[in-house]
Amino acid sequence: MQTDCIFCKLAAKEIPVQAIYEDEHVIAFPDINPAAPTHVLIIPKQHVANLLEVSPESPLMAQLMGVIPRIAAQLGLAEEGFRVVINTKEHAGQTVHHLHLHLLGGRIMTWPPG
Ligand code: C5P
Repeated sequence: MQTDCIFCKLAAKEIPVQAIYEDEHVIAFPDINPAAPTHVLIIPKQHVANLLEVSPESPLMAQLMGVIPRIAAQLGLAEEGFRVVINTKEHAGQTVHHLHLHLLGGRIMTWPPG
């Protein structure tokens, strides 16, 4: 755990969190500032700053991505679809430096993203 990391604090329940999914490695919760009718963040409990810190041998991405079908079904997104985004560093607009997947749904998305 990184003591100055807001998502580490959420994962450790030092800050109250409305978990919509949780297991040994992963926790998912609603984004505080939703960009779509459904906007959930899926994060590893262990601190990883961004996608560049994930090693090819690590099971981390499978753990994070693997829960998406279940969460999407739970939130009613499986029928119409959804978008998954991982902002990585400055050019992508990453503001919280603890790896997180944005799961966005409930409206039609445009492409390319801004
Ligand atoms: O990809 P990026 O780093 O910009 O996303 C961070 C996300 O974390 C934002 O969508 C922001 O609303 C969300 N957030 C949150 N709860 C916090 C702090 C940030 O849901 N306490």
